[in-house]
Amino acid sequence: MLDTLTIQTQRTSASRLPEVDFDHLDFGKTFSDHMLVVDYHDGEWQEPQIVPFGDMAVSPANSALHYGQAIFEGMKAYKNEKGEVYIFRPSDNLHRLNASAERMCMPTVPEELFMQGLTQLLRLDNEWIPSFAGSALYIRPFMFATDGMLGVRPSDSYRFMIITCPVGLYYNKPLRVRFEEKYVRSAEGGAGFAKNAGNYGAAMYPTKLAQQEGYNQLIWTDASEHRYVEESGTMNAMFVIDGRVITPALSSSILDGITRRSVLQLARDWDIPVEERKVSALEILAAQANGTLQEAFGVGTAATIAPMSVIGYQGEDYPLPTPPANAFSHRVSEALAAIRSGLAPDPHGWMVRV
Ligand code: PMP
Repeated sequence: MLDTLTIQTQRTSASRLPEVDFDHLDFGKTFSDHMLVVDYHDGEWQEPQIVPFGDMAVSPANSALHYGQAIFEGMKAYKNEKGEVYIFRPSDNLHRLNASAERMCMPTVPEELFMQGLTQLLRLDNEWIPSFAGSALYIRPFMFATDGMLGVRPSDSYRFMIITCPVGLYYNKPLRVRFEEKYVRSAEGGAGFAKNAGNYGAAMYPTKLAQQEGYNQLIWTDASEHRYVEESGTMNAMFVIDGRVITPALSSSILDGITRRSVLQLARDWDIPVEERKVSALEILAAQANGTLQEAFGVGTAATIAPMSVIGYQGEDYPLPTPPANAFSHRVSEALAAIRSGLAPDPHGWMVRV
């Protein structure tokens, strides 16, 4: 199936690979040589193309720029010791991309186009995929409206693209976070479950305010009462209280994280109790006070597991315990790293060979 779609490929005449310092990769700043580009118009996807990474022309009236009809995904590919390349749960990302597309009145991307575009792009840029411990190729699929038209209505034309960046080891410095009680990331009935560009632009100002107060990121709370935990920055939030893994249940205001899903699956595999439910700021602080809060961390593709060291609430900082070596967050982080590097079996079939 993976080799049946012909993708016209224009190779770069001057690879930038020799200029790359793989020991000092800043996240999202170094792009591989090629990118996938597929246009949609007249009600259908056109011929996909792989071309050298570079700037492109768009109309200044492009409706993605004016009204934010733009969505994206984030995923990673790994190269194991044998040089084989695997992508972590790519069809989960495709399904989420298509859920975002529907929410934003955009066309969905067919599985064959997504998987073959991705496979052929990664095969061409194989040498850009690092293999040292902790490294990966970050993959950014995205789609945006391309009509040059200022009317506020869904565009008729779109562009779907994939660009990729090699990334090094992510340093998981414990995070200082605080509960956000004024601004919201999204509300019930909004588009929080989608990865549309506007969700991220709107989160920058409240995040900047928290950073000016000395926090790394926010714990978003619900839009109506600011009482229940939603997410932690651009990660899903998880807590271990009294041996139970607790995370907010999914809703229309929470992104259905693929790392979240994977962490919960491993917890269930290990017979650790998992609770997906509403969890309030006050419940977390009460557990911190009575010593039952064992761990608090964010989970997402970029960091996998990002432990929290301090939670701020209404002007007070509440320190969290440093988890011991056998803590759930360490165990699950190591288990995911072992599956991704091919050093452990992959019982759920998460790794897809390129
Ligand atoms: N929440 C938000 C708002 C995010 O942007 C992300 C990153 N995609 C996540 C959670 C984590 O999702 P995933 O594990 O799929 O990266």
